[in-house]
Amino acid sequence: MTWVDTHCHLQLDGRPPAELLDRASDVDWVVVPGVDAPSSAAAIALTAAFPGRVLATAGLHPHDAAAWPEQREEVTSLAATAAAIGETGLDHYRDLAPRDLQEAAFREHLELASELGKPIVVHCRDAFSDVHRLLEETGAGPSAVLHCWTGGTRWTKRFLDLGVTFSFAGPVAFETGETIRIGAALVPPERAMVETDTPYLAPPPHRGERNEPAWVVHVGEALARVWGMDVGEVAAITSRNAVRVFGK
Ligand SMILES: [Zn+2]
Repeated sequence: MTWVDTHCHLQLDGRPPAELLDRASDVDWVVVPGVDAPSSAAAIALTAAFPGRVLATAGLHPHDAAAWPEQREEVTSLAATAAAIGETGLDHYRDLAPRDLQEAAFREHLELASELGKPIVVHCRDAFSDVHRLLEETGAGPSAVLHCWTGGTRWTKRFLDLGVTFSFAGPVAFETGETIRIGAALVPPERAMVETDTPYLAPPPHRGERNEPAWVVHVGEALARVWGMDVGEVAAITSRNAVRVFGK
């Protein structure tokens, strides 16, 4: 049984990526998302250091959307060699950047992804309606990955209709994750992937620890319980989906 961890910030973790990848012997490959120009460059450097084991994305996180005018050029040039664009999106939970700037940066990431014909990794926190509007307007749903999906019934259904792929993280396994599990139950396994979001959001039984790719299995186990499926089948289907989405 092997997994694909579709969202882990190995370059932001502080521990040596080689160590984390070695420990994750049941993880075939990982996607390392950039959150700004330097971390996107670092993610791309990891693809050279671990060929076949690491894919990278290039983008600017919505928390830092105010820096988009300064970072646009570098992110755009890094995007040419990345497997996907992002992470981008909207975060109205923390609102660390003004909403209009988050939306402007997200729109340009969507344009970039469409120009390059690459998938786009989307962060959506307390911003379901605005993210939905932008994906609908741009028709980008089928190439969008909604990372760390936390939607319940209503939003899961609406985003399913846009053709997105959902990536589930630790919260689907949290004791408090009932709403997320109710949403996940509506997602056909062919539309789902798993991730750790390393170093954040460690799933039980590691909650509160620094997360790592080896623990993606606990996210997969939670989905297996939701879907009433064998965990090996979840590993196989979500890995196949990751190959399709990221063109590996
Ligand atoms: Zn992330």
